[in-house]
Amino acid sequence: MTYLRRLSLYYAKKFREIRRLAAMSKVPELFGSMVFNDSAMRDKLPSNIYKSLKMTIENGTPLDLDVANVVANAMKDWAIEKGATHYTHWFQPMTGITAEKHDSFISPRDGRVIMEFSGKELIKGEPDASSFPNGGLRATFEARGYTAWDPTSYAFIKDSTLYIPTAFCSYSGEVLDKKTPLLRSMEAINRQALRILRLFGNHEAMRVNVTVGPEQEYFLIDKEAFLKRKDLIFTGRTLFGSKPPKGQELEDHYFGAIKPRISAFMRELDEELWKLGVLAKTEHNEVAPAQHELAPVFSTTNIATDHNQLTMELMKKLADKHGMACLLHEKPFAGVNGSGKHNNWSLSTDKGENLLNPGKTPEENAQFLLFLCAVIKAVDEHQDLLRISVASAGNDHRLGANEAPPAIISIFLGDELTEILECIESGNKYNKKKAKKLEIGVDCLPQLSADTTDRNRTSPFAFTGNKFEFRMLGSAFSISCTNVMINTTVAEALDQFATELEKAEDFTDALNKLIKRTIKEHKRIIFNGNNYSEEWVIEAEKRGLLNLKSTAEALPLYATEKNIRMFEKYRIYTSAEVHSRQEILLENYCKTLNIEALTMIEMSNRDILPAVTAYLADLSQTAAQKKKISPDLTVELEEKLIQKLSLLQLSLYHRTEALSTALLGAKETDDAATQATYFRNRVFPAMQELRAVADELETIVGRKYWPFPTYGDLLFSIYPSN
Ligand code: ADP
Ligand code: MG
Repeated sequence: MTYLRRLSLYYAKKFREIRRLAAMSKVPELFGSMVFNDSAMRDKLPSNIYKSLKMTIENGTPLDLDVANVVANAMKDWAIEKGATHYTHWFQPMTGITAEKHDSFISPRDGRVIMEFSGKELIKGEPDASSFPNGGLRATFEARGYTAWDPTSYAFIKDSTLYIPTAFCSYSGEVLDKKTPLLRSMEAINRQALRILRLFGNHEAMRVNVTVGPEQEYFLIDKEAFLKRKDLIFTGRTLFGSKPPKGQELEDHYFGAIKPRISAFMRELDEELWKLGVLAKTEHNEVAPAQHELAPVFSTTNIATDHNQLTMELMKKLADKHGMACLLHEKPFAGVNGSGKHNNWSLSTDKGENLLNPGKTPEENAQFLLFLCAVIKAVDEHQDLLRISVASAGNDHRLGANEAPPAIISIFLGDELTEILECIESGNKYNKKKAKKLEIGVDCLPQLSADTTDRNRTSPFAFTGNKFEFRMLGSAFSISCTNVMINTTVAEALDQFATELEKAEDFTDALNKLIKRTIKEHKRIIFNGNNYSEEWVIEAEKRGLLNLKSTAEALPLYATEKNIRMFEKYRIYTSAEVHSRQEILLENYCKTLNIEALTMIEMSNRDILPAVTAYLADLSQTAAQKKKISPDLTVELEEKLIQKLSLLQLSLYHRTEALSTALLGAKETDDAATQATYFRNRVFPAMQELRAVADELETIVGRKYWPFPTYGDLLFSIYPSN
């Protein structure tokens, strides 16, 4: 390298460093710069308009059209200043990803165009709904769907477009999206939690919010390698691939130093998310090679949901820009940890009190215990709904597979808190040494040591000091459904508690009895041991807990009478909407397995079989040539390999045919639930059998013949990303 070249590289590096430092000092300015947030509203709106919009955001008072017109105009001016030319209503249909339909601001006027955006356009949109999943809710001729602005989630600018977060429903008002039920469930829990707070004499809090912080895991692999694998392209996961010599056994990736290419990606991701007001906070390497995690600072549930969708979308987009592919599938690689999402969940008042914080005074403790009991009761009574909220073909590979919590729902409280609850229930003295009896509302709970509540990583639903962490979600999930379930079931428990306590003559006495009874009735759901162990499966069965091993087993429980009654009572879903959701999820499960099976058949027939044939042909030719040189030369190796490969190849062929036959059978089933069971019991095992023989072939077919990158290539080596 010449001196000049070295010098120029040195200065280029310095310059980049200076730019980075300059950018860092601008983070506060950068943060939320593309969001029409409170400060932008204050800045751009006349004060009376700002006040009425604020009332809508905080208390849900309806927005009248005059106000909406002014807001729309201000929003448009602000967006144009930032370079936007289009706007879109942004919604979350049942596909699990977000949808948008862009319109430009232009409007013809006297042969010219002006930029226009009305209150009506802000509040309501009308995308054609006929191609979104609706689970039989709506005939195609009634294709109209409406989007309605959700003013509680700020509008933002991305790709020169003003994005307006909206809810999506059908012409006749049926819910077609994931946001509407979430907003309704937030309302339900707010109402019930406030009733409880009033009973404890709290008249200041005007609202109880659900706070959520979703931790997101993902894989990054090289784009070139990604594009060579049809399975990754079509299904997001590898359908073939034998285990590489090195896996995650050395645990040398977890929290390891982040490689330059990955760190450049993470930095840009943070910056882009910050601009959109997403509180991306920590980024680190995960357990598996090429696996990483991003955790945001928590916010209210609907914003956390919107932001998590944006995070996943930007991860994919920026990975592509950096020459990589971001895999959000729950289990991209067999034999290597899959990716999950941890839903950290708590309740807090508009005055900033976290209701799952044990507190320091007897009154705070009593209130905490009641909220804690509500969660315990809710989780025990509705294990099915929590399980359903994390059911998908992809997540079936994780749950119960010794890397993620099992399919059995239980709660981890830690030994101290469990012992406290046991003493309360039995009336025994807590802590032998101090021999103290705990009286709720009179005594102070002992201080819990912080680290005892966060030790058990195997529990699906863990109390972690001042919040619960639900760990069964798959990385690709929208967090919406899970939070609808938690919010609604906890709202129901709080409702029952409030109804009982409001009638009580002696509040403290009634509270004591209620807490004791709840612990007694629902303590079976508490388990602090190793959730990955075989013993737990047996123990859970004895306790009568559900063990819904697969999506096909879980989903049919969605539309039970008990669940429908609850959803209708809290106005989350109508019976028709529950049925439609169940249908969509079942169909989605079948479609996913169908695509996977078809991809396997194609890869086997068109890539793997020809590769083996080519290798066989070369081996035969080598043997023939050897014989030509001298009949005495040994061809034993060629013969043995040819024999072994031929048998495996034939088996590959038969198993591919068997999978095709199994797929044909799926067409004969008539309803979605039967079809899902068929896919699980017939198609899925045929896929695994086909894979086994292909993976064996991979280990003996010459490297140059193998038609796509191997696990070793994808996770570790020849591509520049790793
Ligand atoms: P760690 O798990 O690394 O110890 P924390 O427990 O502080 O870190 O946070 C993990 C996630 O939980 C973060 O996304 C964080 O924002 C979220 N979180 C923390 N407190 C709450 C809360 N009260 N409600 C909801 N989420 C929370
Ligand atoms: Mg955590």
